[in-house]
Amino acid sequence: MRSLIIADIHANQTALEAVLTHAQSTFDTVWYLGDLVDHGPEPNACVQLLRTLDGLVCLSGNHDHAAIGKMDLNTFNPVAATALRWTQSTLLPESHDFLDTLPSMQEVNGTTLAHGSPRHPAWEYISDAALAKQNFAHFTGAICIVGHTHMARVFHQDGNRCRELIAPAGKPFSLNADRYILNPGGVGQPRDHDPQAAYALLDMDTASWVQRRVPYNIPETQRRIRVCELPETLVARLDLGA
Ligand code: ZN
Repeated sequence: MRSLIIADIHANQTALEAVLTHAQSTFDTVWYLGDLVDHGPEPNACVQLLRTLDGLVCLSGNHDHAAIGKMDLNTFNPVAATALRWTQSTLLPESHDFLDTLPSMQEVNGTTLAHGSPRHPAWEYISDAALAKQNFAHFTGAICIVGHTHMARVFHQDGNRCRELIAPAGKPFSLNADRYILNPGGVGQPRDHDPQAAYALLDMDTASWVQRRVPYNIPETQRRIRVCELPETLVARLDLGA
């Protein structure tokens, strides 16, 4: 079984379409790790497009929680809070209801999916090997896949040790030893200083993880953000991948 692994679309329809075109239906299922809305200009279109994908398993992220009123906007920085208020005013009832059904963590065929981390699914950022090491105690299978940091990462548990490994983009990375925490990077707002959309393909039959990057029409997303009169910071950061 081959799964398309995507996270952190953040209402960037142009980036999502580029990823789906690039992946070319070479997958049987889609595992989405949360933060479908907020920051970007097209929350409803992204909800609708994601829902059309076959074999979808979909998680909720902290921005999705906030967009439907389940999280206090004061816990977000001012730019994010401004964007969240706009998102709340724009969400259609069917988008709201869909987001309201989503869990922050789910196990699929022995693989754990969590938005932030298996320890604190809605909020924790697994940003280094020390935090990853603590989180291996919070799932039981061999693989946990997270989003939230918007950075493609591979953390490997080998006995008592945890190390971060490099999975070069475009090349199969073997997952045949011990346990892993994986992050595909962000579709709609990468934060590793590479502005291209990020995603991954997981083949459970061959235990293979392929990290991919794909260019998309960033100026078009920026134009749409400006039409919505969202904060200019959200325009600028797409060029930087930050
Ligand atoms: Zn996010």
